[in-house]
Amino acid sequence: DAAIRFEDVHFSYNPDRNILKGVSFDVPAGKTVAVVGPSGAGKSTLTRLMFRFYDVSGGRITIDGQDIRDVTQNSLRQSIGIVPQDTVLFNDTIAYNISYGRPGAEQSEIENAAKLASIDGFVAALPDGFKTMVGERGLKLSGGEKQRVSIARMLLKRPKIMIFDEATSALDTRTEKDIQQALREVSRGHTTLVIAHRLSTVIDADEIIVLRDGQVAERGRHQELLAME
Ligand code: ADP
Ligand code: ADP
Repeated sequence: DAAIRFEDVHFSYNPDRNILKGVSFDVPAGKTVAVVGPSGAGKSTLTRLMFRFYDVSGGRITIDGQDIRDVTQNSLRQSIGIVPQDTVLFNDTIAYNISYGRPGAEQSEIENAAKLASIDGFVAALPDGFKTMVGERGLKLSGGEKQRVSIARMLLKRPKIMIFDEATSALDTRTEKDIQQALREVSRGHTTLVIAHRLSTVIDADEIIVLRDGQVAERGRHQELLAME
């Protein structure tokens, strides 16, 4: 059965331009689906709709068979986590940033999540620009390191559906592959992953959905799609 189902989803930010034009697909529970396509295709928009950051203009999105408009915001946030394109860190330690919203998290759980996201070297560090009474101090984190803080946060939360919006795109290819592999291992069988990404990167997904101009242009296994190029 589908963990996530898009049924003829339409969406527009403004009435004069449709961004998603009848998108349908489903993601079986425990599987990994990659939504790929050129910049502007609507990938980010699609991930935000799942989180109900916006409501669909037409069609519907269901999670475990339930229309997300009928689910409370609280329970939706419990079942879904999103790692956005850009991570904005709180003015506190990396460990605090990872465990934000999870006051009961054990130090060992935080460290484990950090390790999976390859940032275990600096959980106690403070982000760049950290303001204290005596001025600014802190560690300058790259975009990729900030993304990894978000990924660690997701790995600590462990929602049953994890959404990544270009969330590994600021990493070098090697680290990106390592993290994608860690994510798949952690999630295998019991977490549903949706990864929005540009086509060029190799993603080890159960299915690839190619989004082009707000529509599903192709879907299939990665190898099959490569063969079509
Ligand atoms: P992708 O993630 O595939 O690059 P997006 O979903 O970010 O695509 O964007 C799809 C289209 O929607 C683009 O033309 C973009 O300019 C437009 N768009 C994205 N966000 C907004 C917004 N908040 N308001 C208006 N238009 C937007
Ligand atoms: P939780 O504490 O359960 O993770 P939050 O409400 O703090 O829930 O945020 C859930 C996720 O959504 C976080 O990973 C956060 O980075 C992301 N998020 C929050 N606001 C936005 C936004 N405006 N755009 C994209 N992602 C967001």
